[in-house]
Amino acid sequence: MSNIAQIIVNIPTRSITKPFSYLIPAHLSFAAIGWRVLVPFGNRKIEGFIVGLEADNIPGLKSILDVLDDFPWFDNNMLETAKWLSNYYLCSLAEAMRLFIPGQSGIKTQKAYQIPQALDWEYTKALLSNKSQEYLILLAYINEHGPVTLTDLAKRFTSIAGMIKFCLQHKLIVTADTVSKRGKANSTMLIKLAVSREIAAQIEKALPKSKTAQRRLLKALLSTQELNTVELRSLAITQATVKKLAEQGLITICSVPVFRNSYAGAQSLATELTLTSEQRQALQHIIPAINTGAYTSFLIHGVTGSGKTQVYIQAAAEARRLDRQAIVLVPEIALTSQIVARFRTAFGDDVVVMHSKLSVGERYDAWRRLHAGQAGIVIGARSALFAPVSRLGLIIIDEEHEFTYKQEETPRYHAREVAAVRAKLAGATVLLGSATPAIETYYHALQGKHKLLPLNKRVDDIPMPAVTIVDMRQELAQGRRSVISLPLQTMLTEILARKEQAIILLNRRGYSTFVLCRECGHVLKCGHCDISLVYHAPTSILRCHYCQERHAVPDVCPECGSRYIRYFGAGTQKVEEALNGLFPLARIVRMDQDTTRGKLAHDKILAAFAAGSYDILLGTQMVAKGHDIPNVTAVGIISADTALNLPDFRAAEKTFALLTQAAGRAGRGSKPGRVVMQTYNPEHYAITAGAEHNYQEFYQQELSFRQQLGYPPYANLIKITVQANDETIVHRQANQAAAELTQSLAMAGAAIIGPFPAAVNKVKDIFRVNILIKTKDLPTITKQISTMSIANQKNIIIDIDPVNVL
Ligand code: ADP
Ligand code: ZN
Ligand code: ZN
Repeated sequence: MSNIAQIIVNIPTRSITKPFSYLIPAHLSFAAIGWRVLVPFGNRKIEGFIVGLEADNIPGLKSILDVLDDFPWFDNNMLETAKWLSNYYLCSLAEAMRLFIPGQSGIKTQKAYQIPQALDWEYTKALLSNKSQEYLILLAYINEHGPVTLTDLAKRFTSIAGMIKFCLQHKLIVTADTVSKRGKANSTMLIKLAVSREIAAQIEKALPKSKTAQRRLLKALLSTQELNTVELRSLAITQATVKKLAEQGLITICSVPVFRNSYAGAQSLATELTLTSEQRQALQHIIPAINTGAYTSFLIHGVTGSGKTQVYIQAAAEARRLDRQAIVLVPEIALTSQIVARFRTAFGDDVVVMHSKLSVGERYDAWRRLHAGQAGIVIGARSALFAPVSRLGLIIIDEEHEFTYKQEETPRYHAREVAAVRAKLAGATVLLGSATPAIETYYHALQGKHKLLPLNKRVDDIPMPAVTIVDMRQELAQGRRSVISLPLQTMLTEILARKEQAIILLNRRGYSTFVLCRECGHVLKCGHCDISLVYHAPTSILRCHYCQERHAVPDVCPECGSRYIRYFGAGTQKVEEALNGLFPLARIVRMDQDTTRGKLAHDKILAAFAAGSYDILLGTQMVAKGHDIPNVTAVGIISADTALNLPDFRAAEKTFALLTQAAGRAGRGSKPGRVVMQTYNPEHYAITAGAEHNYQEFYQQELSFRQQLGYPPYANLIKITVQANDETIVHRQANQAAAELTQSLAMAGAAIIGPFPAAVNKVKDIFRVNILIKTKDLPTITKQISTMSIANQKNIIIDIDPVNVL
């Protein structure tokens, strides 16, 4: 019998990599691999995960204090996935396992104080003789109630901080943490009869007339079997009455968990569809794969409006028919209420939605429902991948090319990679879907890693929208300086006259994107970040979009004192102003980070626009995604080049995907769609291919560019970022790291690029310098890096397969 557990303690650090041994006490002998437990660690109590068991006799081991669930949280596949993550992304096992825990930790620790065991009260009184009475009252309180938290003490005592400091210094109190479980299940009371109906009926009759409440309760139970809190309230029955009958042994009170549902607002769309022939063909491949119970991965390459969601739904239905569970990933849950609504319509309460605005408690409920098999489908952003589904049969990744599938903090995983691992372990099917697959994904599909399923036509043979490219240099040459070109203006005039709707995209918020002194050329920058400040018109304030700092607009140039300060670069606010000027009668709504702060604000704006309350929806990339509004016949792209000019090898890919997405919003109903793309780079292949909806053309050009430079998919990248608040130190350390890398990796055939300062080389007063490693043998190189000193330095970030190389 194993009596010792190997436990990974849930502390997010790279330096603790090994499990610790703890004794399993007899009363917790059921605790096995995968259980979450509470363990003593130093002088704290923390959460731990059991990853191994052994039978041994090691003296002096500490014991597990408690279990945190009534089932093992991790099944074997979850555990294996976590191990893979920690190996591949060079993070600790604890960091990987935390991903599977709602809120990253199952417990909440609060600092608390108690009286030390051997406190000499006489000595204490003497010590406090010249202090206020409050001190002794405080100590007496702690003595009686300890351990007590600071929050609790602060409610009862004024100037508590000073007293605590003194008492700690003189060892009159010691710290002791209190630990509470997070995300406790919400429960509701359920009342049942504890005696037979006959006896209950007799007792009810025998009760004196004055006991009306007790009689009412018994009568109600005789007619309905059980009553919950709400029903009790409607019968005007108090807790006291319930308690009295329970004490007499006539009723039992049980507590049953209730599950919170905070996405009740999503509207439902009832649809009965006959599949298109392309949808049918795709499913003819997918359905048998789900049935084999072996891993298969598909790439559904479907143009915008080709009906990918319907294919997802049918695939999920098949998985459910086989009693297997499905994980559906979307790039950003706030922008995808339509897909949620469609799944809800098809599967009702079998769907659990993981919204980033759920509380930890709500998350915990959702995951317990999935674990218990009370729900079969989870929809969410990348973190939904870690849901505790034990019968996984299908993982769907919608818009698989989106960069939000990469986590930009440790563990820096990519959902697509992790999905493949989880699916392989579970014998599940993966469906990747996109109109503009990532270059890597498409390349891998052509190589056979994913089966390629094309959906080349829109549903009902609706034509793709016609795109006009407007060369903004020509506009300028003809003396037009507005952010709205003549062709865009003409298109909007026409569709407004027909009571149709338009979407205008500009991927920059604010009014002016930079402010410059015409005298000396000085650009106003944030004091903490190496980036220009953005002018926001409604408040007449300069804002840093990196650290959110605000500055008043200076009257004179801080460099040369000139008054000649001018505003350049258009943001969404400026476009809004221009549209209002051109179309004073049009109803315009702006959607960007500045207008969507509240809960589900996106949904509200989109719903109002879809309902026809507005004529023009204007905003950043969030206007381009996911929705399907039949009356939208025009899309205007103010600056197709916003992302194109960034020094990022994925700039073209990003641009092409965004243009395609945005254009894809137009003409999805019975009326044809039109798109105007404004650009200063009309010859660039991302723009020309985007205008022609020609993915193949874009892919070929982009692939040859990647091949020339040896970038993914022809090699893997690793990005090493050194960061510190001192510029000299950062550079010195980066140079050392680069030298160390060159020396140890040269033999393994890796190319080291850099060090070079990050594109925004200072953010919030932290300087960042990058080193890029290109390799065709990622496993060997990561393994080698894991043994180097840079792998354990706190201020060095290692990013495997970075999506952002700036
Ligand atoms: P995509 O995600 O590929 O852009 P959607 O899944 O949003 O496309 O589908 C586009 C539109 O076509 C939606 O309004 C959807 O309800 C509708 N649709 C999908 N499949 C069918 C079908 N087989 N018959 C009729 N309409 C369909
Ligand atoms: Zn100046
Ligand atoms: Zn800043």
